[in-house]
Amino acid sequence: MASGQDIRADKNRLWASIMEMGRIGATPAGGVGRIALTALDKQARDLFVSWCKNAGCSVRIDAMGNIFARRQGSDPGVAPVMTGSHLDTQPLGGKFDGIYGVLAGLEAVRAMNDAGVDTRAPIDVVVWTDEEGVRFPGMLASGVFSGVYAVEDALARTDSDGISMGEALEAIGYAGEQAPHAHRPSAFFEAHIEQGPILEAEGRTVGVVMGAQGQRCFHVTVTGEEGHAGTLPMDVRRDALLGAARMVDAVNAIAFEHEPHPVITVGSLNVRPNSPNTIPGQTQFSIDSRHPDNGVLETVEKHMREACAAIADKSKLEIHFERVSQRTSVSFDSGCINSIREAAARLSVSHRDMYSGAGHDACNLALVAPTGMIFVPCERGISHNEMENAKAEDLADGCSVLIQVLMERAG
Ligand SMILES: [Zn+2]
Repeated sequence: MASGQDIRADKNRLWASIMEMGRIGATPAGGVGRIALTALDKQARDLFVSWCKNAGCSVRIDAMGNIFARRQGSDPGVAPVMTGSHLDTQPLGGKFDGIYGVLAGLEAVRAMNDAGVDTRAPIDVVVWTDEEGVRFPGMLASGVFSGVYAVEDALARTDSDGISMGEALEAIGYAGEQAPHAHRPSAFFEAHIEQGPILEAEGRTVGVVMGAQGQRCFHVTVTGEEGHAGTLPMDVRRDALLGAARMVDAVNAIAFEHEPHPVITVGSLNVRPNSPNTIPGQTQFSIDSRHPDNGVLETVEKHMREACAAIADKSKLEIHFERVSQRTSVSFDSGCINSIREAAARLSVSHRDMYSGAGHDACNLALVAPTGMIFVPCERGISHNEMENAKAEDLADGCSVLIQVLMERAG
């Protein structure tokens, strides 16, 4: 039997699996469009399940359509060590987001099979249903598994055509029978492309993810008064767009009051009546703010509210500043973080600690199990884009680190 340290991911096999999966829903520009609970999602699931069965795994489906492929351990009474991610993509997504983590888990199983390794605990490779939330927002399936949502509520959610998530699961044959909490793991690891530019810029291969930043989103409505662009003197105007523009600038400046900077984005703006020769009477805009520290998010919200209220006051405008969503930051388990760090060092894979800017299924899993994430670089940090790209060597190195931590945890 090989010692744990000898076991590495097979770079070419992992790459070939990712490329073959990428043909399901391939877009002309080289990306993937495989929205959850569609015929394409079913095709990808069927392929994954057939690969897992060929690798000797038993496969179970839970009520949310999450797929658990189990490599049996020597002690069936022990809780599984779990790894995985998602198969679905954005409408114009890439070949790596999500699927890398799923197929890195499968590659871990294949590599352990090749090496003839036995573990005490079983290893479950999991596919979480609908992470992207294109059709049913909210990372519902890993959320149900982690007790964030009740299974009946999640299955009753409807898409824009009035089809419920339960019906959509039935339609593709992935509505499982068993209770959603049947597979509580002793640890969960998710491998994923970084979806940001840091690792590539620093020439490092693995990001040891400390946690995921929190997010607060706001909807701001600024109300002034419409008027004739040619007749109303400048000093008596109540221009809602001018006020909003000053607020956008003020909100941006608040990001630079903190170190490290929170990321603050105004990405959507509506102007009423949106006419070239009418002074805007009302403007609505969005604010998206994110930071790893919930305390900083709280302070940022307070300062943004104050700054916008002061501008409204000075500009004789009314303002309605509403928080529309909130996600608290997540800290991953220090033991899992250490395992990943030490495995990377053991394998001489360059690495650094970092935070995730995006939400992942691992953020839900962190609520119920010791959890860690392994990031690998992607080209120019581009993701949620057909151009998304990554290097076979980096993907394999990240997978080799995953193999190490799975074997350590599974004993
Ligand atoms: Zn993803």
